[in-house]
Amino acid sequence: MSAAALELVRGCGGGAWLADVNMGRRIWDSIAGFENQQLLELLYDRVRAIAAPLSVSLRCDSNDTRRRASLRLEPLPDSSIRHWIYVEWSEARSPTAMLDPQRKRDARSLNCCTWCKRVELGLGEWREVEEAETSLGFNAESTLPRLKAAVCTTCKQGLLQTFPGAKVA
Ligand SMILES: [Zn+2]
Repeated sequence: MSAAALELVRGCGGGAWLADVNMGRRIWDSIAGFENQQLLELLYDRVRAIAAPLSVSLRCDSNDTRRRASLRLEPLPDSSIRHWIYVEWSEARSPTAMLDPQRKRDARSLNCCTWCKRVELGLGEWREVEEAETSLGFNAESTLPRLKAAVCTTCKQGLLQTFPGAKVA
């Protein structure tokens, strides 16, 4: 894997599955969140059905950088799927505590959308990490909730448009 890809993987927080670029099978073991597994399974089915590559966008932020990446799924003759990822854009930002892997976590947890990196503060209320931090009022000494891989309604609907007719519970 290239240095750039490794940097991307390190920056992905809950998206550790990107470490398995080109090793699609192992991706399953590291994706948390039932809905994400369902969505990826549907994407894989779609790619195999159309026998052509398919790309989806996702955010791949680290605590001090916003990144949008494209995940390209390419069907192979043996029915496995090769995963490619590349960064479409990135920009520096003030470091966020919520995505800092060094910060201590407590027993609380918050849903974090794997695809857009927004955090769910209340039921269906998805906010950018910076907004969520302000709203929750963390300081330098605060322990933070763990971030759980999830998928927000907006991303779920967007992904489902990639493969019309599919349904996710
Ligand atoms: Zn989302």
